[in-house]
Amino acid sequence: CGIVAYVGPKDAAPILLEGLQRLEYRGYDSAGLVVSNKGLKMRKVKGRVADLAAVVPARFKGGLGIGHTRWATHGAPSDVNAHPHLSGDERVAVVHNGIIENADELRVKLEADGAVFVSETDTEVLSHLIARTVKETDSLVEAVRVALKRVVGTYGIAVVDAERPGEVVVARNGSPIVLGIGEKEMFAASDVAALVRYTRQVVHLEDGEIAVLKADGFNTFASDARETAKEPLTVDWEA
Ligand code: GLU
Repeated sequence: CGIVAYVGPKDAAPILLEGLQRLEYRGYDSAGLVVSNKGLKMRKVKGRVADLAAVVPARFKGGLGIGHTRWATHGAPSDVNAHPHLSGDERVAVVHNGIIENADELRVKLEADGAVFVSETDTEVLSHLIARTVKETDSLVEAVRVALKRVVGTYGIAVVDAERPGEVVVARNGSPIVLGIGEKEMFAASDVAALVRYTRQVVHLEDGEIAVLKADGFNTFASDARETAKEPLTVDWEA
């Protein structure tokens, strides 16, 4: 339902919580976040963003993270079905808006390959799939691109890899993702409402596009891996 991502010099957790609060008007049943700082630190709960804020400890330091508000489509609203979803080795975390139509088929294949699923969501196939491709490539954006080739359905996603603590990868197909460009910090969200407190410079991803965000900038790619050129727009917004 709602996605927020941050990479930069500030602590990510308060920014993610504030952004998720701005997306509350869309409705949701659970909320969660991951912060990357010497491994992935995750909290997720069935309930409100305020319930999530109450269980995120002050020691959740780290300038990179992703957050989500979920509107359940596959699997009941519950703590374990809330996003983010981790790979078995806890190296990769994914938040997802949309529906993976071939999730059952992918799950059977991944389980045959040793993946252990902990949730009932369609989304969890993404974390296991990306964790497998990420080991075969030097680039998280390329690993996500290759993994998404096996996926049928709609998605806006944000992905982090514990071993790449300086970058977030986002992608979209049928579910919006907008990048927010700050001063030595980058944001992404499913809705510009989550970004306008921090920046008015935005880039909308097209279906099939994928982007890598680092504190000092971003790159976007088409589904065939060719880099795409994107001009930031300035949004007009009454705060
Ligand atoms: N299909 C996913 C789930 O049920 C994502 C739902 C959403 O867009 O929030 O977990």
